Amino acid sequence: MSVLPDVLASGHHSVSFEFFPPSTEAGNRMLWESLRRVERVAPTFVSITYGAGGSSRARTLEVVRSIASETTLLPVVHLTAVGHSIAELRQIIGQYLDAGVQDVLVLRGDPPGDPNAEWVPHPKGLTYASELVRLVRMYGVSSVGVAAFPEKHPRSPDWESDIRHFVAKCRAGADYAITQMFFHVDDYLRLRDRVAAVGCHIPIVPAIMPATDVRQIARFAELSHAAFPLSLARRLEAAQGSPADCHRIGVEYASTMADRLITEGAPGLHFITLNRPTVVLEIHKNIRNRLRSAHALPTAL
Ligand code: FAD
Repeated sequence: MSVLPDVLASGHHSVSFEFFPPSTEAGNRMLWESLRRVERVAPTFVSITYGAGGSSRARTLEVVRSIASETTLLPVVHLTAVGHSIAELRQIIGQYLDAGVQDVLVLRGDPPGDPNAEWVPHPKGLTYASELVRLVRMYGVSSVGVAAFPEKHPRSPDWESDIRHFVAKCRAGADYAITQMFFHVDDYLRLRDRVAAVGCHIPIVPAIMPATDVRQIARFAELSHAAFPLSLARRLEAAQGSPADCHRIGVEYASTMADRLITEGAPGLHFITLNRPTVVLEIHKNIRNRLRSAHALPTAL
């Protein structure tokens, strides 16, 4: 049995790290060094993303299989509906279970190539993540997570429908949600309040993606549509010639965010690593005592 839903419901803060399956041998070595580094801080889980298509999807399975069999880490595997028939999705869920992976983060996925292109479901597939939540649940997995959007999903026409569909997805069988990256804590708090106001109290884990380079900003906006704080952009721009200063500014901003999220009662912190965990481990170190003092943790954190 997975401990994940229990940890998230217990009031103890979960700490998790997100990785992607690399496409090269060098990338694979870096992933494994990174996994060993985060293993030392005993996170609640690590999650592995699922690519938009092709061979990266098979690599997700290989990576989670190795994590399950060769580390002390709990792997959460992402799964997207896009481009798959229901029969294929059933097969993949079976492969995850055979690999010893029982915890799935369920997503609809975006159109491959251009994430902003028109969404077209596979002719024999699913249209919304809520349908995949129901399908995955039929297999008796230990936990199911879903995505949440502090600035609402970019395709949602308004907040009312966004929250209604999010809550329906949770009620289809999700145990918890992880957010899209965001940079204003108030956006997270507003989302949490909106969801709670309609009677849904699912743990919503905020995702933290530190910005340590001004060149990342446009990429972040493209990927997540997250509003980037002007003051942070200006500070990073001013420090552009000094990687050490940019690093310090990014760590400081994300650590302050993490601290406030804990104070505000977030159920945990999910760190997006891009397979380079140095920055997020520094943030984790900065707030480790806050995590400890907010609740006595059951792990070695
Ligand atoms: P859904 O919940 O299906 O929502 C999509 C849109 O449809 C929303 O606007 C929603 O309001 C609307 N909607 C839902 N139900 C209905 C309904 N019944 N009627 C009308 N409208 C409805 N992508 C990847 O490709 N691989 C990954 O590994 C990956 N990991 C991610 C991890 C996290 C934590 C997050 C936040 C995102 C991740 N993504 C990943 C991106 C994700 O696939 C996209 O953001 C996608 O656009 C949204 O997926 P969803 O699961 O929220 O979709």
